[in-house]
Amino acid sequence: MIDRIGHGYDLHRLGPGRKMILAGIEIPFPEGLVGHSDADVVFHAVIDAMLGAAGLGDIGEQFPDNDPAFKDIDSSLLLERALKKVADQGYAPVNVDLTLIAERPKLSPYKSAMRANLAKRVGLAVDAVSVKAKTNEGLGETGRGEAIICHAIVGLAKRNNK
Ligand code: MG
Repeated sequence: MIDRIGHGYDLHRLGPGRKMILAGIEIPFPEGLVGHSDADVVFHAVIDAMLGAAGLGDIGEQFPDNDPAFKDIDSSLLLERALKKVADQGYAPVNVDLTLIAERPKLSPYKSAMRANLAKRVGLAVDAVSVKAKTNEGLGETGRGEAIICHAIVGLAKRNNK
């Protein structure tokens, strides 16, 4: 049973000299995503979806990007903290569905690894987590290979009487 649904969106630019981390998986590619943290668009979109569903604002409020504590931080740690905040409100994730939009690199070879790691990090069975990837048909900033976008939806269930 799902009591709350939340939506999250994130975009990061590609740039040189950075590792590409998506759903906590390092993707072999000459460029990475630029950001204050490790710029993992998947975890950021999932965090925003969870926070939104629990009525806890957004990732920028909870983890300000001008806070040196979050510089280059592994976003799985942010996800862990967000899960704790959601649990403190009495909620737990039921499912996660996401869509990645990237012209480059091709993400299909990494979908199952991303799905498995995301499921592990949010404490769900793999079949409750969905990772979809598509291109932007060459259009716009993602189509030109300048950015990667992730949309996420998370369902939460109330787990106690809080
Ligand atoms: Mg972000």
